[in-house]
Amino acid sequence: MTELPARRLLLVHAHPDDESINNGTTMAKYAAEGARVTLVTCTSGEEGEVIPPALAHLAPDREDRLGPHRAGELAAAMKELGVTDHRFLGGPGRFRDSGMMGAEQNHRDGAFWNADVDEAAAYLVEIVRAVRPQVLVTYDPDGGYGHPDHIQAHRVAMRAADLAAEPDFRPGLGRPHTIDKIYWNRVPRSVAEEGFARLRAAGVFPRTADIGDVPGVVDDTLVTAEIGGADHARRKVAAMRAHATQIAVEGDYFALSNDLGQPILATEYYQLVRGAGGAPAGRREDDLFAGVTS
Ligand SMILES: [Zn+2]
Repeated sequence: MTELPARRLLLVHAHPDDESINNGTTMAKYAAEGARVTLVTCTSGEEGEVIPPALAHLAPDREDRLGPHRAGELAAAMKELGVTDHRFLGGPGRFRDSGMMGAEQNHRDGAFWNADVDEAAAYLVEIVRAVRPQVLVTYDPDGGYGHPDHIQAHRVAMRAADLAAEPDFRPGLGRPHTIDKIYWNRVPRSVAEEGFARLRAAGVFPRTADIGDVPGVVDDTLVTAEIGGADHARRKVAAMRAHATQIAVEGDYFALSNDLGQPILATEYYQLVRGAGGAPAGRREDDLFAGVTS
C-alpha cells in the first residue's frame, strides 16, 4: 500500500471556479505545506454563461462545448494553487450542470440535481476511502446561495462522509474511513460588509453585487476557523483568473457574468460542523487540521 501524506484535505464543489473563489487561499496553503489536497468537482459547469465574447460560441445554446473548456480552466487554476489531485465526481461528464434553480435544465437526464444522492455519494465514498481525508470542506445545506448543484454537492458530500465510515456500505469501494472534521464554507457578515464598502470606494465596477449574492454569509459568531496568508491569496487570485469564461478579475475585486463587482476574500472562513475544534474557547482556529490526531 502506498503511504499517505500526514495531512489530507478533501474539498467538494459544484462547478469549476467555485473552489478558487471559496477556498483558493486554503488550497494553496495546504498544498504548499505538503498536505494532500484533493478537489472533487461534481459537474463541468456546462450551463455557465461565458464572459469573453471570443468564447461565446462555447455556450450551451450554441456549440455546448463549455464543459471541456472549463475542465481546462480548472486544470490551469489547480496549477496556480499547486494542487495535483483534482477529479470530477464519477469522471468528467458523469453529472451535468443543472442550471439555476427553476431552469428547465434542472430536470434534464444526467443533471446533477436529478441524481440519486446515494448513487452519486458512492463515487465519493470510493475517493474518501482511498484518499482517507481527515478534513472535508463543502457548502452548507443551502449550498451557500441556493444553486441546485451547490445544494446537491452539500447533500452528496455529507452523505458520502457517513457512508464511507459504514463498514456494511459497498465493501468493494475500500476500507471504511471516518473523516475527523467537516467544515462548511462561510463568510462573516462584517467581512462581507467591509469588502463591499471597500469595493464601492474603489469604484472599480460600475455596479456591485450585494451581500445577499455572496454564498455562505452568516453572523460572525458562527465562524470557527479562518485561513489567510498573502502569498496564498496571490495564488488564489491567479487561480480565479484562470477561470476566464466565468470570472473577470480587477485588482482585489471580481465579477461573474452578471458584471456585478464583488470583493475577493483573501482570507477564507469556515464553520466546523462535525468533529472537535482545536482552538481555545472563543477563538477561531487558524488551521483546519488543528486537533487532528489520526
Ligand atoms: Zn457553482
